[in-house]
Amino acid sequence: MEDGKKKGEIYSHTDATKVNLTDEEWKKVLPTDVYHIAREKGTEWAFTGKYWNSSESGTYYCAACGNPLFVSDAKFESSCGWPSFFQPLTKTSVIYSPDNSHGMHRTEVLCGRCKSHLGHVFDDGPPPTGLRYCINSVILDFEKAKEADEHYQQDNKSSDQELE
Ligand SMILES: [Zn+2]
Repeated sequence: MEDGKKKGEIYSHTDATKVNLTDEEWKKVLPTDVYHIAREKGTEWAFTGKYWNSSESGTYYCAACGNPLFVSDAKFESSCGWPSFFQPLTKTSVIYSPDNSHGMHRTEVLCGRCKSHLGHVFDDGPPPTGLRYCINSVILDFEKAKEADEHYQQDNKSSDQELE
């Protein structure tokens, strides 16, 4: 996580409570670049983001609210210059909205928890879904699998006994 990147009180990897803040409230908790993508439906320049070319394994979270959105297993190499996934983590991780701006008919992808703009989904992706979720790096927080695995093991210590 970048130094000085402030997280609002609503930021959580586990709290699924819907977040409904006004633009003024978002402005107070989000860095300018994140606010621009999340609330003003901005788009980062292709090939400039942190994650378009990353193949590390782990989980991608919404940078605005912490909602888990995608896992690296669903990420694929795309020449478009943005992180591309063939499916979200769960069906409720993201929501969709028709976007007819800029003279195009596209489907906007938003965070299922806080409705921040993430990017768009296209139907030219690889199997098994044939979909390409084209997402801005700025609105993603990445956590490496190694750390996630440690959390997983800690979480499972208590349940081991039940299995025996
Ligand atoms: Zn979110």
